[in-house]
Amino acid sequence: MMVEAWLEEIMASYNQESYEARDSYAAQLHMPGEIFQELVWWALKSLPDEILVGLDIDVNQQQNPEVDELFASVQQVDGLFQGQGYLINEAHIVNRGNSYSVHHLPEDWTDDIFAPSRGARAGRFTHWLHTHPNAPAIPSGADADAAQETPGVDLILGLRFSPSGPLPWFDDVEGKRRILGKEATVKSKPNLAQKSSKGNDLSIVGIAPSGHAIHEVQLIAFHKTGLGVNVIFTDENNLPYGWNSIIPR
Ligand SMILES: [Zn+2]
Repeated sequence: MMVEAWLEEIMASYNQESYEARDSYAAQLHMPGEIFQELVWWALKSLPDEILVGLDIDVNQQQNPEVDELFASVQQVDGLFQGQGYLINEAHIVNRGNSYSVHHLPEDWTDDIFAPSRGARAGRFTHWLHTHPNAPAIPSGADADAAQETPGVDLILGLRFSPSGPLPWFDDVEGKRRILGKEATVKSKPNLAQKSSKGNDLSIVGIAPSGHAIHEVQLIAFHKTGLGVNVIFTDENNLPYGWNSIIPR
């Protein structure tokens, strides 16, 4: 699967920021660009719902050690989470719903496949990602609660897009944001800011197959203890997008 050039570009700029901020994280997680692109498309196809995606790792494939070393943090915690150091190789949509219900799996899923002891979100997947359509990637209280069941890390994908449908951009959230590329800006005069709330005048970073104009992409990862996990987007050679401009010369 081909990764769109605009997406490669913003993943590279995110990686650059991940490198510069590496010492503020407790661990790192490598996210293959092909899988990430799929997540963005799924998020938009599933509107107006949020989706919950289970991510699996390949226990036979470790993250590129050279990249691991370069992005190592002075406060790195080894063995922080399950699957640490292993590449993500699978993603499955497990549920959809609102910001609360998305974390609760349909009962037949948990009954048939999982023992009740494994919790509201069960324990089959290592990492979990859910989406925030037209909202920043910042965890809510429900998100933090759900993360307590996660053996690996939790990720939140925030997207700002138009047409927004029933979901106008919701920005009233406190927390650290990590944007891929630049924050969305109003293209025309500032006094048209009112109109921009509909998305008409916002800068566009890319167009999704669903036809949505994407104004902003955000991604964060965190461990259930609240520690931040640094995400590095990797290409088909398991090297970060933008690798050549990141490596020290
Ligand atoms: Zn959430």
